[in-house]
Amino acid sequence: AKGDGRNSYRYFSANMNSNMLERVQLEQRLRRAVLQEEFCLFYQPIVNMDDRTVIGVEALIRWRDPKYGLISPDKFIPVAEETGLIEPIGEWVIQQALTDLSQMHANGFMINMAINVSGRQLINSNQAPFSSLLDNMLQKHKIAPKYLHIEITESMLMDDTEQCQQKLEAIRDLGIDIYIDDFGTGYSSLSYLKRFPISVIKIDKSFIDNMLARQSDANLIKAIVMMGQSLELKLVAEGIETEEQWEFLQNLGCNFGQGYLISRPRPINELTELLVDNLKP
Ligand code: C2E
Ligand code: CA
Ligand code: CA
Ligand code: CA
Repeated sequence: AKGDGRNSYRYFSANMNSNMLERVQLEQRLRRAVLQEEFCLFYQPIVNMDDRTVIGVEALIRWRDPKYGLISPDKFIPVAEETGLIEPIGEWVIQQALTDLSQMHANGFMINMAINVSGRQLINSNQAPFSSLLDNMLQKHKIAPKYLHIEITESMLMDDTEQCQQKLEAIRDLGIDIYIDDFGTGYSSLSYLKRFPISVIKIDKSFIDNMLARQSDANLIKAIVMMGQSLELKLVAEGIETEEQWEFLQNLGCNFGQGYLISRPRPINELTELLVDNLKP
């Protein structure tokens, strides 16, 4: 009765404290990780749906914690966004991805690089605008802008429409293509999408997971493909794991595919092996 209530309250608050403690510790470790550059990038190929040749790669960050090993971005990117640490981390990502891209180009693989960019990077940048950062980095690495793509999520566009539109236009004006990531999860309409300088839509993995079992997901993907085609946008299907999924998406008219069926994200040295096999004449 009364006594129990008190106990469960105590338990609850002790629990909350330990969650807060964990959160504070994570933040401290992440600050140190930024200073000591404890991050690395894995690259996942994006291929043509028809002949499966690699057209580019997506850079995906991992945190190599000295104590806990490889930590996935889902575990720390949200904290990085809340604390603003995403700005230095994001800069590190661009820097590293372009270093690796210029290496790939030097080896004769003229592929594209897609980088994930979070809302706070695009908008809250308190120093120079994000477009100037990209411009400077491209020049520093002597890479033509057409080889760089940025991926932003559909939900981000819906948060701060006006600002996003301006920032994205500045990036598009440099010649950098903009991809909409996780498309289908944010319920944006056709007319809404037209406001942004977008070149490519990435269909969210969650629909692809279920499309062969659930008619509603298959219908949704068909609608996205038709909408994309009518806006003259290219389509990437992400998270493809089986040949059946591949065939279905190819028949629908998706242009590009990405997923474990082709390759998991891999470190740069293992990527080179794949490129040699995939792109040799
Ligand atoms: P995302 O951009 O939607 O990336 C796709 C995620 O799906 C990646 O997870 C990738 O490894 C995984 N994936 C790809 N193909 C398959 C598949 O066939 N099956 C399965 N089960 N999974 C697949 P990852 O690398 O853990 O990244 C998670 C999220 O973290 C990314 O989702 C992205 O939102 C974020 N992220 C990663 N790197 C960065 C970064 O440098 N900056 C920012 N701001 N966010 C990043
Ligand atoms: Ca992405
Ligand atoms: Ca995605
Ligand atoms: Ca995602």
